[in-house]
Amino acid sequence: MTLFPEMCENVLKESIIGRAREKGCVEINAVNIRDYTLDKHNRVDDATYGGGMGMLMQPQPIFDCYKAVCEKHKTKPRLIYMSPQGETLTQQKVKELSTLDGLVILCGHYEGIDERVIEEIVDEEISIGDYVLTGGELPALILADSISRMLDGVLPNDEAKELESHYNGLLEYPQYTRPPEWHNKKVPEVLLSGHHANIEKWRRQQSLKRTYERRPDMLNKAELTKEDKEFLEALKKSRE
Ligand code: SAM
Repeated sequence: MTLFPEMCENVLKESIIGRAREKGCVEINAVNIRDYTLDKHNRVDDATYGGGMGMLMQPQPIFDCYKAVCEKHKTKPRLIYMSPQGETLTQQKVKELSTLDGLVILCGHYEGIDERVIEEIVDEEISIGDYVLTGGELPALILADSISRMLDGVLPNDEAKELESHYNGLLEYPQYTRPPEWHNKKVPEVLLSGHHANIEKWRRQQSLKRTYERRPDMLNKAELTKEDKEFLEALKKSRE
């Protein structure tokens, strides 16, 4: 639900998500909130009570838009309002949301949305980080993209998502493609060896090393084997 459906459509028709929509692996519709305003001048926003700069989105068009979406789908999908005041989005949250049959994402704009309609219909508020954007469209696209790629058939190789950063609580290992040497930098020998066990071991260790160096906080929650812990201990010692 947005005031700028074309902004969403223009992104969602491209690349992997665009193809997944064509194949029917995921259905995403951008619904224009303005279509539901009862104002004779088509207005959807007004000045804030109590003064202050900027305009606020009014409750009526948002409420009626959500009602129409529920009626169309004969269900009451979870309504997520993209908001800098919400819980920060994580891969864990994305995984959880990807198991739902469907959901509705509400994009605010201008100064945001009248609090009463948030109280009345919003189930959850999600933020994409501690900064403020002009509208909820980019955050909504981020949420739609991250959920869609969890769905069957969206990625060319379904296992790929399980190897990527954050999926298993670690950052991904570095990756290389052709040529084997570029600007005097060689692809690590082990990756050219064809020895699968060694490649797996190297990748796991690189993944642990990266996470240790860049996001040590993640290691507290990651599932680590005895071997992983030993590797990290040795790494720590080597840095002391
Ligand atoms: N007045 C609001 C506040 O201080 O909490 C901010 C409104 S913001 C300028 C306009 C809209 O952009 C919000 O209603 C929300 O939908 C979206 N938005 C901005 N930053 C966001 C973020 N970090 N995460 C999710 N949505 C965001």
